[in-house]
Amino acid sequence: MGDEEVLLGLDKQLHQGIDEAERVAKQARFVYVNRQQLVMRTIDVEQLIEADHPARAIWEFLGRVDLSGFSEGIQAYEGERGRAAYHPQLLVSLWVYSYSRGVTAGREIARLCETDPAYQWLTGMKVVNYHSLTDFRVQHERALRELFIEILGVLSGEGLITLERVMNDGTKIKAQASRQSFQGAKRIKEHLAAARRHVEALEEQAEAEVGQKLGRARERAAKESAARLEAALAEFEKLREQKPEVPEDKLRVSMSEPEARKMKQSDGGFAPSYNVQISTDQAQGIIVAASLSQSAADSKQLLPAITRVKENTGKLPAMVVADAGYTSGSNIKALAEQKIDFIAPVTDKLDQLKHRGVDPAFSKEGFTYDAERNCYVCPAGSQLKFQGREQRGDRIRLRYRAATAVCADCAWKPQCCPQTKCGRSLNRWEYEEELLSHKAKMKTAEAQAIYKQRAQTAEFPIAWLKEKIGLRRFRLRGLQKAGLEILWACATHNLQQWIRLCWKPQFLNAQTASSG
Ligand code: SF4
Repeated sequence: MGDEEVLLGLDKQLHQGIDEAERVAKQARFVYVNRQQLVMRTIDVEQLIEADHPARAIWEFLGRVDLSGFSEGIQAYEGERGRAAYHPQLLVSLWVYSYSRGVTAGREIARLCETDPAYQWLTGMKVVNYHSLTDFRVQHERALRELFIEILGVLSGEGLITLERVMNDGTKIKAQASRQSFQGAKRIKEHLAAARRHVEALEEQAEAEVGQKLGRARERAAKESAARLEAALAEFEKLREQKPEVPEDKLRVSMSEPEARKMKQSDGGFAPSYNVQISTDQAQGIIVAASLSQSAADSKQLLPAITRVKENTGKLPAMVVADAGYTSGSNIKALAEQKIDFIAPVTDKLDQLKHRGVDPAFSKEGFTYDAERNCYVCPAGSQLKFQGREQRGDRIRLRYRAATAVCADCAWKPQCCPQTKCGRSLNRWEYEEELLSHKAKMKTAEAQAIYKQRAQTAEFPIAWLKEKIGLRRFRLRGLQKAGLEILWACATHNLQQWIRLCWKPQFLNAQTASSG
């Protein structure tokens, strides 16, 4: 480095030093934060959200449909004293918008009404208390069902529902009840006796403390607890009738949510749940029916689901597609009688004889069914006689067996029934003929191509309910209230489809026309 460069370097350092000294000497100035002041702001409520915000679409849609059913029970009248009620259009809009955002708690909605621009726009900057919201969600079952149907009517009018192909699927959603709340009849009776004693004690106490708010609240809670235990005992009786094969000391009912049932989950474990059935129209993925059941078996849910589709839309679907859990002879027969094409695979576990060492040549197909004598005839010409019927889950199977002595003397025993000491046995489902012809239909390329489309249509709404709304566990207890949650969620799903397929395109067209 030359002398000149050294001097230049020193000069630069000197100037930097002066700048730094000046900065230190001058006091920097910042925006002052004053939290001790009262501020009045002007808010243009209409401008709180964009012109194409979904809250506007929901409000607009609900303004067009008949919500008078939600006004039942309102005690405030024009010209009379008392606080005015919230309009059903507002409360339904708040719930639908909240469900669309995955908000399913009344308290959270009430909080958002104070802070979130979309909620402020919906309420016109008013506060809505959470009691009104939570009561409203469960108090209008009939009106909610009518709204669900009315939404379907609008979507059908727009050509979004064809009912040419309806996909049915089920999923288990956990109940509020815990596993530990499941007890046998003996424990429930003990708890009920204790709860009744507690209610009596509180009633005596309440007489001495007339007008005490806390005492009344305690008494109400104790009575509710006793009522729940009585309901648990009633459910126990119901369960005993439904499952006569299960010993009574093995039956369990939840004391906190008697209608919940332990069901197998997708992870293999068991949890208190309800079985949710969703029927989806393939044309645009609109949910045309939704319901809740206490039975874990899907196959029994198919016919009620089809009936609900008809109730909701006014007609039966031309085709129903479902997974193997719905395939049963009785379903095949019933759908055929209603002239509904049924597409669902058959998994015939009865044919799985490999593990019993049976030669494939001696599988069921090698035996002839004699309908007149109600028996099977084996390849050696011997009879397998009818032994009886047995319930397998929700299906009935008929059992047939060859005489022990006949098989023992048969040269084909090593290939036909090597491991049994008794004669060869066979099972036959009730409606076996229907099952066999259905099995043949499902082998066709056309049926397989249709079935391949099932997962995309049927599973999307279920994934939406679980992932978008977070409906993996019900917030409300009991079959009826959990059913309402599903209905709110499905109505929201369908309105979302209307926004996507109708409202948004119309909005964009109007915008293009006005700018052009
Ligand atoms: S083992 Fe029995 S059922 Fe099988 S072929 Fe012989 S006789 Fe018939």
